[in-house]
Amino acid sequence: MNNILLPTSTAGSLPKPSWLAQSETLWSPWKLQGEQLIDGKHDALRIAIQEQQFAGIDIVSDGEQSRQHFVTTFIEHLDGVDFENRKTVKIRDRYDASVPTVVGPVSRQKPVFVNDAKFLRKQTNKIIKWALPGPMTMVDTLYDAHYQSREKLAWQFAKILNQEAKELEAAGVDIIQFDEPAFNVFFDEVNSWGIACLERAIEGLKCQTAVHICYGYGIKANTDWKKSLGSQWRQYEQVFPKLKQSNIDIISLECHNSRVPIELLELIRGKKVMVGAIDVASNNIETPEEVAETLRKALKYVDADKLYPSTNCGMAPLSRQVARGKLQALSAGTEIVRKELLAQ
Ligand SMILES: [Zn+2]
Repeated sequence: MNNILLPTSTAGSLPKPSWLAQSETLWSPWKLQGEQLIDGKHDALRIAIQEQQFAGIDIVSDGEQSRQHFVTTFIEHLDGVDFENRKTVKIRDRYDASVPTVVGPVSRQKPVFVNDAKFLRKQTNKIIKWALPGPMTMVDTLYDAHYQSREKLAWQFAKILNQEAKELEAAGVDIIQFDEPAFNVFFDEVNSWGIACLERAIEGLKCQTAVHICYGYGIKANTDWKKSLGSQWRQYEQVFPKLKQSNIDIISLECHNSRVPIELLELIRGKKVMVGAIDVASNNIETPEEVAETLRKALKYVDADKLYPSTNCGMAPLSRQVARGKLQALSAGTEIVRKELLAQ
């Protein structure tokens, strides 16, 4: 796919401009409507690409500028889900959220992100990555009054995601990433059907595929949860053996400033790994040396040709200035390690 050593990317979202949506807020309502909103999203997407390219990021994305939330925006476009009929449920077994209800068979009548992906493709010659929610995380962000089975609903979502993914691939997307923070919580389900559903979602794809598994955005519910996890975060250990056997090409992980024992990466040796070297739960901008140090540790367990420096998670809740600084730190830190590898 590319000959770049240690190609850099982000996990997904970037902050939105303040004229488009309330800054530093998840699920922020749009400030524009109708045609103005469509234009505004495209303008924001152009800026997001420009910011990434200016910072020297190798694999660029839309920064999720055209979606309000990484899961619900996709679900909004599906039939069978009632957004008026909302229920409060505990999501990721962690915090209450008001979510829509599945009221009938779910289906996708038309493409969701394909036009946005075509637009992104026209703006850049770089490798492009597109994020979709994973089936299990979709199920975990809904109230299901129809299937009454997380597994059955996830399987339906996997089929829908596969339709969307095939069209994204045809639109020129190089890497399709599925966001599965739920994989860090529901280990029995991940191993019994979560990874199988993910493999159904990528069936027949020729482009690269990735799964992003993190400890969430830097919001309070997540940082509180992290404090309860003890001195070693061994969640990845539960899902890595089965993920290693799966057809997914790339695994995107949280590594910097986290308590994940880095040696767990040995369990997925042979896979490509997007190593999170930027903490998204802090406004402190990493120094290039800090980024480099995280990458050096990961290199003990990930072969250099399979290591993709990245961010721990999306940066939507951060200020634009902080996100910009973090993108630059990621590039500069990666450059230090590239030079070291080439000098060996
Ligand atoms: Zn994440």
